[in-house]
Amino acid sequence: MPDHIRIVLVRPSHPGNIGATARAMMTMGLGRLVLVQPACFPSQVATDRASGAVGILKQAVCCDSLQQAIADCHLVLGTTARDRTVEWPQCTPREAASRIAELSSEQQVAIVFGTERIGLSNEELDLCHTMVRIPCNPEFSSLNLASAVQILCYEIMLMMDLKQGHERPTETLAKQEDMQRFYSHLHEVLVELEFLDEDNPRLLDRRLHRLFNRAALVESEVQILRGILTAIQRKNG
Ligand code: SAH
Repeated sequence: MPDHIRIVLVRPSHPGNIGATARAMMTMGLGRLVLVQPACFPSQVATDRASGAVGILKQAVCCDSLQQAIADCHLVLGTTARDRTVEWPQCTPREAASRIAELSSEQQVAIVFGTERIGLSNEELDLCHTMVRIPCNPEFSSLNLASAVQILCYEIMLMMDLKQGHERPTETLAKQEDMQRFYSHLHEVLVELEFLDEDNPRLLDRRLHRLFNRAALVESEVQILRGILTAIQRKNG
């Protein structure tokens, strides 16, 4: 779980939303929840709505102010459903996730969510680097708090996965010359086994080439296959 990313709920009034937030986070692999002046917490309602994600509720940190909740953060993103009269830099959840994915795990990130009825105040948005708005129906743009958390966490998870995928060292595909050596070796063994009749090979070689080409073998896999062929020859030889 990336623990440099925290979800901050500012003055959540319904404990059910706190539980649902924990569940949303857990499904997306995030675990750090910070609550600023929750109206009611801990609460049985929150625990019930969290389903299996009670661990996140147990470890949730409560703070007196948003400043305190984000004091050690390098990047603070504030979410809002409505356009503000003052222009803040604004981005989508996807752009926000991509910014987060660029940071190293030593950099602390907070995604801040407002209270159910009125959202974040302008003073609270002043503490954020960027405002994040989930694109939605302009006539009905206010999502349920935990649904908004779910969308942000989902985008973060996707982006983190992508980043990891790029970082994962990929094994080199086998060179064509190695594939050709493997094909000749395979042909030789199949003739020795009398599985392949050299006078009447039909399309077997081509079919086998097609099969192995489709598998896009990496170097180590070709070595294994060559080893198997040698073992067969040793046994029969
Ligand atoms: N009228 C409030 C809505 C509060 S909904 C407002 O204007 O913000 C509770 C919280 O859910 C919001 O403070 C925000 O954090 C999040 N949220 C709801 N809808 C959102 C949206 N379309 N984009 C981004 N965050 C949203």
